[in-house]
This record gives sequence, structure tokens and C-alpha cells, in this order.
Amino acid sequence: MNYEKFLELMSEGGFFYPSFEIYRGKAEVGGFYDYGPLGVELKRNIIEKWRRVFIYPYQDFIVEIETPIIMPKIVFEASGHLEHFTDAIVECTRCGRKYRADHLIEEELGKRGISIKTEGLGLDELNGLIRKYGIKCPVCGGELGEVKAFNLLFQTTIGPYSENIGYLRPETAQGMFVSFPKVFNLMGRKLPLGIAQVGKVGRNEISPRQGLIRLREFTQMEIEFFFDPENPRCPYLDELDVKLRIVPEKDVAAGIKEPREFRPREAVESGVVPNEWMAFFMGLATIYMNELGIPLDHQYFLAKLPQERAHYAAASFDQMVYSERFGWVEVSGHAYRTDYDLSRHMKYSGYDLTVERRLSTPKEVVEVRVYPNPQRIRDAFASEAPRVMQAISKADPRWLVNELNSKGVVVVDGYSITRDMVFIKEEKRKVFVERFIPHDVEPSFGVDRIIYVTLEHAYTEIDGKPVLRLPPDIAPIKVAVLPIIKKDEYVSIGKRIFREFSRAGVKAVYDDDGTIGSRYARYDALGVPFAVTIDDKTPIDNTVTIRDRDTKAQVRVSINNVVAIIIDAVLRKLTINEIARSMGLQLISRG
Ligand code: AMP
Repeated sequence: MNYEKFLELMSEGGFFYPSFEIYRGKAEVGGFYDYGPLGVELKRNIIEKWRRVFIYPYQDFIVEIETPIIMPKIVFEASGHLEHFTDAIVECTRCGRKYRADHLIEEELGKRGISIKTEGLGLDELNGLIRKYGIKCPVCGGELGEVKAFNLLFQTTIGPYSENIGYLRPETAQGMFVSFPKVFNLMGRKLPLGIAQVGKVGRNEISPRQGLIRLREFTQMEIEFFFDPENPRCPYLDELDVKLRIVPEKDVAAGIKEPREFRPREAVESGVVPNEWMAFFMGLATIYMNELGIPLDHQYFLAKLPQERAHYAAASFDQMVYSERFGWVEVSGHAYRTDYDLSRHMKYSGYDLTVERRLSTPKEVVEVRVYPNPQRIRDAFASEAPRVMQAISKADPRWLVNELNSKGVVVVDGYSITRDMVFIKEEKRKVFVERFIPHDVEPSFGVDRIIYVTLEHAYTEIDGKPVLRLPPDIAPIKVAVLPIIKKDEYVSIGKRIFREFSRAGVKAVYDDDGTIGSRYARYDALGVPFAVTIDDKTPIDNTVTIRDRDTKAQVRVSINNVVAIIIDAVLRKLTINEIARSMGLQLISRG
């Protein structure tokens, strides 16, 4: 693949290009990309396709929400990101340049023909490698300092008070965890429940590069899928007509790189994937990539070893897609986050995030109850007392008791409650239900990487000219309306057809500039699947031709039908052959 030519098409065609072009050299602009008019359409279609695969068919239990991109500090204390969301950084003691330590070591040793995997290594181990191999600054040759942890969260302040620290979210996920009780109620208090979100995230990457692959601001599509760990069945697992290609954890540990094929259920039963829902989403992820034009042998799932996994994951797989330019690229992460996040948010917020499970046989239990002492609360809080009492009744009693026992005071909704303001009672009860924290599996997709691999897979050159073979439902522009020559009569018919497409909500372009051959080539390069040509027959018999980007075959159809035919072809993914066959028409020419 001619990467330079590809990038030129991406920029000149208005797909994507580096941001802040006019300030290049005057400000730090790395890791930010703009999408142009075609890029925005493509991104919209790729996101919509994701909804069609992951959300719409399961709309009774998977819903999409939208939550803020700036979140207060406590959210990331609870989630563990403040402590764990770091990369290793190393600075040159001579020129002051800073590098991501693991990448630098791999690259420098790679130049010497030594292949080392640094993922999951601690700071000491990275330091050790730098000293052992005498790695120096690749730019000035200076000594490297100590390897340190660098937190990737972008920090800001919320409002005018510098102590109100907030962060740009590094994943959409925390929005779903924090709003879990609200959405759980909205959806009728039932499990399983999937909460999806599409949105921007920020990660202050140390040295972003590789275009859309490593950005400082990018878009994620994530689902937090909550289920009862004692009832982990997925009734749709066997409906998936797909094989999962996986390098299981055991194979990764043994240095085996070749993926093995499993039916989704087989992957669970053989212990390779920890639960049915995770296998289900891995199946959907395979189908999704396939719909974007990525063949099965260009994708697989790579298990992460314990030391390579994110702090919240009990098991995880990266979905890898082959890129001619960059090798295997992780496009989505599939993590079994267990009850980690909800437990942490329960601890930090004091809000009860458990849900109820009906028991088949009742149980006798001793429960701790915390009741407000109305007299003491009125004395302490006067008119605020009803709010305080409500806050106490909402809070998790075990947490209240723990805090009171250890600190003598507990802060609930901003109110400081002391031991004398509550009655603590132990009550024996027969229960027909018990409470538990749901478990969570997360399929997490990076939209920008998916856009890149989709475009790369669609890109080809025919006789030295670029063509983007994007699937019609993904292509940003569906049809180009082209008068064969710029003659008034043809122009006015062409413009009328273009208006009809526009009014029908079909992304179209009208063009009468240059030879017909050069215009076909221009729109082939932009991935436009169909061209409607107005030629010398059009004014006579009210017909136009539809030309297919990939086969260059054409059919002649009535102007009155052309909009409906194109809409149908895009929606049902019909080729020009299929259009011709379904309408009893002859393919008329090539070229
Ligand atoms: P993670 O939470 O790190 O598993 O990321 C989830 C997904 O987001 C990955 O599978 C990537 O597709 C995408 N992603 C992560 N980091 C970046 C980045 N710096 N730039 C672009 N996409 C990213």
C-alpha cells in the first residue's frame, strides 16, 4: 500500500487530517485530528452500524445514554484511575526530551535486532532494561534519567475554585457506572442490563503518533453490561453464526501466537472466555468488523496476561485487526470488570448500588439497620433535618456503621453525622430476596482506530488510481449525479435529480466539471458506490444510467425510479448485478 498516497487522499478528500494546522510549530498539536466533511459522515455511519449490531436488536435490555465528559476527582479516585492510569516516562538528562519508556526500549532494542515485550513491566524492570542495554536518548545521545509514572488524565478545575479538581474522562465507562442506579430504575430494575455510550474521551498520551491510532482525544463506543453472576446465561449465544479466533491466555503465556477457532459457546465451555455474555459480545464484535469490510483472517482476539491487564479487569481480550501499515492494531477491548467498579463507587459515594435477587428458598439473616434519631438530627440541622434523615435512610447501613466505628463520624450527602444521631440495630429476618452487586462485562471500541482500519481495508489502487471500496451503507456519499457533458438540458435534469436525493435524505453530490472519466475516478477515490449519469438518451426517454464503483457495470433505469433504487441498493447492500436481475434489466456496459 502506498501510505503517502493514501494519506494524501484522506486529507485532500476531507476524511481526516491533523488539527491546528495553522499553529503547527507554535503549539503542541500532536495527537489531535480533525474529521472533514466526508470523515464526519463516515464516522456517523460507522457509529450507526455499531448501534445496529450491538444495541437495536437488543433494545429491550441495552440502552444508550450520554453523560458528562468532565467528571469530579472523586469519580477517578473511586475508579482507580488516579492511582493506576499511568504510563512509564523517561527524560533525557541532557536535552530534556521525554519518552514513553516501554516504547523507547522496544524501538531502541529493535534497532539492535533484540525483540523484547515490555507490556506489563514495572518501573524498576524498565529502569533495569535501560541500564542493562545502555539505552541513550535517540536524539542527542544523552543519559536517560529514572523511569517514572506519568498519569494520563487531563486535569482541570470545575468552577472558579482551584480546589474543585475535575478530569476529562479517559473512558466513557465511568458515566455508566455512576448512573447505574438511575438507569437500572428507568429500565424496570431488571438484569441483565446493558448501558451504552458513544462519546469523546481524553488521554494525555506521552508521545502520540501513528495518526488516528494513538490520539490524545478520541471517541469511544462502550457498553457496560450488568448481569447476575449466579445467572450468567446469554440466551442469544447460539444464534450467532460466527467463529471466534482467539489466542487464549494459556497460549499467550506459552508464547504461542497463532489464534485458534472456537464457536462462542465452545470458548466458554473450554474456559477460554470466562462467561457467556463476554463471548456473545466478542461474537458481535467479529460480525461488526466483518460488516465494515474486515475479513475474518484479518482479525483475532488476544488474551491479556494478568500483569498486562487494566487494574479493573479479571480477564480481558484485545480485538486485533491487521493493518498493512501498522501491523496488528487493537480496535476494541473486552474486559470482565466483575463488580469492581460498582463496589468502588459504592464505597466512595456511600450510595447503595446493590440490586435484589429472588431466592428459591428463603434464608434467615441478621441485618444491620441504621435509623435516624429525629430529635438529635433536628437539634443539629434544624430545617435541613428532613433531608438529612432521607440521606441516612438511603445510605448503605453497613458502610454507615463501618465509618462511624472507625472514624466516629460519617459524611452523608455533605452532612456530618455522628454516632449519637442514629440508632443502630441488628434485626433477624427471614428473607426471600438477597442483595448483590451486579457483575459487568465491557466491550469497548475506539471509533478512530476503526475508521482507520476500515479506510485502509477499503483502499486499493486500480491502474495507479486510488479507489475506496467502502461498503455502500458505510460510504459517506452514496451517489454522484453526473451529466455526461455540461449541456444546459443535462445540467438542469442532473440538478433536479440531485435535489430529489437531497430531499430524500440520501448523501449525494452533483458534479459537471471535467470529463466523465475523470469524475468517475474522483468519486471512486472518495468511495462513492454509485454514479447516476445523465446522457444523450436521458432527454429523449427519461432514463439515466447507474454505474457501480467496484465492477464499473451500468444499468439503465427510469428517472422516476432512480432515487428508490439507490436507497434500496444501499440499505439492502445490493450489487448492480442484483439490481439488474431484480428489475429484469440488462447490464449495459463497462467503463
Ligand atoms: P482501552 O480502555 O485502553 O482498552 O481502550 C479501548 C479502545 O479505545 C481501544 O481498543 C482502542 O480502540 C481505543 N483507544 C485507546 N487508546 C487510544 C488512543 N490513544 N487513540 C485512539 N484510540 C485509542
